[in-house]
Parts: sequence; C-alpha cells; structure tokens
Amino acid sequence: MSESIGVVQDAPITSVVGYPRLQIIDEDKQFSEDVNSYLDKIGLLDSGMNYHLISVFGSQSTGKSTLLNALFGTKFDVMDETARRQTTKGIWMSRAKQDRILIMDVEGTDGRERGEDQDFERKAALFALSTSEVLIVNIWEHQVGLYQGANMGLLKTVFEVNLSLFSKPNKSLLLFVIRDHIGVTPLENLAATLSADLERIWDSLIKPPALADSKITDFFTLQFTTLPHKILQPEQFFTAVDQLGNRFIADAKDTNYVFDPKFHRNVPADGWSIYAKSIWEQIELNKDLDLPTQQVLVARFRCEEIAGQAWEAFEAAIKPVEGMAGVVAGLGAIIGPARSKALEVYESQASRYTTSVYEEKKKELVSKIDLRLVQLYAAQIINLKKIAVQKFSADVTAELAKPKYKFLEAVGTAKRETMTIFEAAAAEALVEGTSLSYEKDLAALSADLEANISRLREGESKRLANRITRVVASELDESLPSIFRSPGEDMWDRVMLDFRETVATALAKYEVTNEEGETKYDFGLGGLPEEVSAEIDQVLMDAWKVLHRKIREFGKAEAVLLRLREIFETKFKYDEKGVPRVWKPSDNIEEVYTTALNETMELIPVMTSAKLANGDPVAPDAAIIPVLERDEEIDVEKFSVFMSRTQTEELRQSFKRIAVSMYVDAKRSTIQSIRQ
Ligand code: GDP
Ligand code: MG
Repeated sequence: MSESIGVVQDAPITSVVGYPRLQIIDEDKQFSEDVNSYLDKIGLLDSGMNYHLISVFGSQSTGKSTLLNALFGTKFDVMDETARRQTTKGIWMSRAKQDRILIMDVEGTDGRERGEDQDFERKAALFALSTSEVLIVNIWEHQVGLYQGANMGLLKTVFEVNLSLFSKPNKSLLLFVIRDHIGVTPLENLAATLSADLERIWDSLIKPPALADSKITDFFTLQFTTLPHKILQPEQFFTAVDQLGNRFIADAKDTNYVFDPKFHRNVPADGWSIYAKSIWEQIELNKDLDLPTQQVLVARFRCEEIAGQAWEAFEAAIKPVEGMAGVVAGLGAIIGPARSKALEVYESQASRYTTSVYEEKKKELVSKIDLRLVQLYAAQIINLKKIAVQKFSADVTAELAKPKYKFLEAVGTAKRETMTIFEAAAAEALVEGTSLSYEKDLAALSADLEANISRLREGESKRLANRITRVVASELDESLPSIFRSPGEDMWDRVMLDFRETVATALAKYEVTNEEGETKYDFGLGGLPEEVSAEIDQVLMDAWKVLHRKIREFGKAEAVLLRLREIFETKFKYDEKGVPRVWKPSDNIEEVYTTALNETMELIPVMTSAKLANGDPVAPDAAIIPVLERDEEIDVEKFSVFMSRTQTEELRQSFKRIAVSMYVDAKRSTIQSIRQ
C-alpha cells in the first residue's frame, strides 16, 4: 500500500487512488522532510496564498478518518473493524478533491493507546491552530451535553492554546460535526447545548488581562452540522456528507461557505513547510509561540531563498558576457533583461511574504545585481575608451598626412566623431532603472582627447616655428652680407630694420587683429591664449637667435680684420671714381693714406660691437628678453658685444700694421717708378 514519491526511498507518502498522502509528523513526533516535495507533487507548491487548510479533531475511533475520506475524497487509513486498534498516528496530510484544500488528519486520543501522553494532544492542537483555517470537531451525538467528556477536555485545550498563540483575535472556524445523529433532537438544540458548554469552558479559562473580557466569538466562528449513522443509514449518511461538502466549494454558493479570508494564516504555499516545521520545533521545545514572529521568520527565510534563485538566474544570464574580452556588443540588451528577469523572479514569488521583509531583501538583491552591473559597465567603458582613443589617433594621423591638411579642422572632426561613437556605445550599454551613467566618462574622454590634441598642437607649432625660423635665417643670409659690405655709422640700424622686416614678412600670414584692434600672431592651431603666445615667442626667440648668430659670425676677429683691410684698401688704392691709383711722385700719398686710415678707423666701433647710430647697443625687444633669458646660448646682457676691449685693441694694431705696410708698398712703388 506504500508508494514512495520523493527522493527519500522510505518516505511515508502513500496513495491508493487519487492524491497521495504524507505523514507530516510521525509517531516519534518527527517533522517530515518531504513536505515541500509533497506539496509540489500534489500541485499546490506554487499556489501562493491560494490554498486552504483544514484539520480534524476528536476522540479516537469516532470515525474522523472515515468522514474525511467521504467528505474530501482522501485516502486516510480507517480502523480495521476486526482489530480495533488506533490507525492514525501523528498527523497526516492529503489534498481534498475540492479545489486547493489541504486536509490534516490529527491523531485522536482516548487515553487507551497513548494514555499518559496527553502532551501530544496539546501539541497537535497548537499545531493545527497555528496552521489551519478550519478545525472540524468530530463528536458523537450522545456526547453532546456531557460537559466532562473527553471532547470537552480537548476543546479546553484548543481554547487555551489559542489564547497563547494569538495576542489579538485571529479567527478560525470551528465546525462541529455531530455523528450518529438519530434525528430526535433537532440540530438547533444540539447546537445551543454545545454553544452553552463552549461558553462555559471559555469563561473558566484563565485569560491574560488584555483578553479578560473577550468572548469565544472574538476568536472563533462556530458552525454545527449533523450526520446520520454511516453503517446503519449509509444512504442518508452519504447524502448529508455531499451536502456538507458544498460548504467547502466557493462556487456552490453555500451560505455556510467556510473559507473566510480572515481565517487564512497568510503563509504562501512555498513557505508553508518552513513555517510548519518551525512552528512544530517551537512547540516541541515548549517555547512560546508567536505567529507573527514565525511569519516574519518564514518570510525572511523564503525571501532570501528566492533572492538566491533570482541571483543565480541573473548570474547565469550574464555569464556569457563575463567571459568576453574587449567591448561586448549590445551589452545593455543582454544585462538589462537579465536584471529585470531576476527581479521578476523575485517579485513574483517573494511579494506574497511580509512586505517589510520582501522590500528589505529586494533592496539587497537590487544592490547586489547593480554592483555587478556597475562592474560590467565600468569594464565596458574602459574598453570603449581605449578603442575611442585609438580611433582618434588613427583618424588624426590619416588626416594630418594629407598634403593640405587643416590642423584645427582635422582634430576637431576626429574628436567630435570619436565622442559621438563613444557616447552611442556607452548609451547602448546602459540599463534602465539603474544608476549607471557615462557623463563622467564622456568628460574624461574629452579631457584625454584634449590632452592628445594639445600634444599634437605642440608638435605642429614646433614644425611651423622651425619653418618660419628657416625662412628668417635664409632671408638674413641673403640680405645681411650686402649691408655688411657697406659699413657705416648706421649699419646696425639697417641690419635691425632688415631683421624686423624679415621677421614681420615671415609672420605676416599669421597676423590677426583682435577685438581691441591690436595686431597679434596666431598659427591657427587653436589652444589657449597662453599656448598661442608661447608658440609666437618660440618663433621670435628663434629669430633673435639667428640674428645673434649672424652678429657673431660678422664679429669674428679675422673676418673683421679682413673687412677693415678691404675698406682701407678700397679707400687707399682707388680714387673716388673707383679707378685704381697709380702713384706718381707728385701724389700726396700721406694725405690719401691718412684720410683712408681715419675714415676706416672711424668704422671700428661698429665693426667691434653692434651699435646703433644713436649709440645704443643692439638689444632684443623688451618683450622677448624673458624668453631669451631662458636660453643658454644667448647672453642677453652682452647681445651686442662680440669683441672684448683687448681684442678690439689687438684688431686696431693688426689693422694699422696692414695699413702701414700698404702705405710702405705704395711709397716703394713710386720710388721704383722714378728709377725706371
Ligand atoms: P478515527 O480514529 O476517528 O479516524 O476513526 P475511523 O475513521 O478509523 O473509524 C473508527 C471506526 O468507526 C471504524 O470501525 C469505522 O467503521 C467506524 N465508523 C465510521 N463511521 C461511522 C459512523 O458514522 N458511525 C459509527 N457508529 N461508526 C462509524
Ligand atoms: Mg483516524
């Protein structure tokens, strides 16, 4: 007759026909481990609050199991007529044929089988009341009015434990089924007698002060019915049972429909086994039972369990993403649904439990999920950024390799495009309802690209400055020698004029007039004003360095001496028309010599330092001095000085010696001409 259903081979879940049954508490008072799988097997595990629970009470062998089987189509064991031994041990459970009703068949006592073990009766009453909406009290008609009878003792127990369980009225239905009703005493009379007895019992209870004035009806709704003798009047018995069955069917519209929502213990079916087990353990340990606390405990346990399942579902859904390297295409479309699916799993199952617990655990789940999302998103952003910067560099490099590129346009376009692509990809990975955002990353990318552009601009401006400097240098190479060839008091004024014109010409195409009407230079590479002026300073500094170099080249002692010699030679050996002199004895060589010598000597100051006609030394513009001072090559203080006093004196002497020797040669040539 036994038929195992669960994983446990010897689980006492048995079935004859129809729904199987389960011994949820055995004769050793052990709570079954198979309740959950049992509820699953009979199809009620996922019914949420949409189920009902009925327990039966009464002395042993009063036909309780027989009644249940007839009324609900269950297959509880019934006493074998020949053995007359107790059959129902512990507490059994089955599903009724009526919709979504669980029946618990509770072992009765009559002192014969369990005798001294009155303890179980009390515990079973506590358990049934903690879990059931309806308690069927099975009683023989001839026991009605026997106040001292076994049934009344049991009812006193039920009332007592009820007071200990519910600090405030939490209603249950007591349905009295009066068996073997002969029909002489009408139901109303029997009900009145029973009610009076119940009230007497209630009054006799020692109640907590807060409930001192409470009435039995504050806690219990009472219903009464009678059944004929099953063996003597089987037909009438089954007719009455059928009628009684209507009270358990909502659609039957029976005015005595038993399931008032206020009777429900509000424990979702998937949490029922935890709830019932925990209740039973508390009962076994003789601990005070407090149902609201138990419900919160169950809520906590189940909500955590469901959150765990939701998390597992989430993790499984995002697993493929976690294994991917680099940018994950459509990340948002993967992780978004994974998140909402997980929350759906949680909400659909856990929302039946105590709201505060449900909300608390939901918050934990959401923050756990969102933490993972933030990590995934951050990794995605890092990869997107890497790609964005690479793309930017490639774009700019390609653009700047073109023959007539425009720097600002090239970097501007590349940056704009890069930012747009990045933003689109970052937005695609967002998940609605989370705090994910990319504003900061967008700003960081912009800053990165700007730093990149700044470096590019620096290189670009260096190239431009070099080009301008080369132009300036070659222009000066062309123009200065002719100035140097015609020295005079204003030679350095002419040099400076030429220098300034050359620089201005080289920079002319970068000239811009600002709003204040000032003329400034700008390479058109963008950048901050101080960066722009640094670029221009670089060009000017290089130009001044070229000039400095030219001055030094000019001022080399041998070169100056050679120049002085040439000048003197021209003045001495050629006449005003540039015709070479052929000295005749009548010529006044001394005078020509002295004039040429003096005129040449007068040039020595401009040949030994860069001095303007007004006597000022050539010096860099005040504005550029601080920049030049940073350069080691140039001594700004001695910019115009290229020969020391001693060198100058040596130069004078050397020059004089040359002049004298030329004079002597001239003299000698006249003497020779006389001799011939
Ligand atoms: P339980 O111990 O209360 O579950 O009682 P059972 O259902 O096992 O039945 C005990 C005995 O009562 C059995 O021998 C049944 O045949 C008998 N019985 C069942 N229904 C009735 C009834 O309506 N009237 C009487 N007098 N006996 C019944
Ligand atoms: Mg029984």
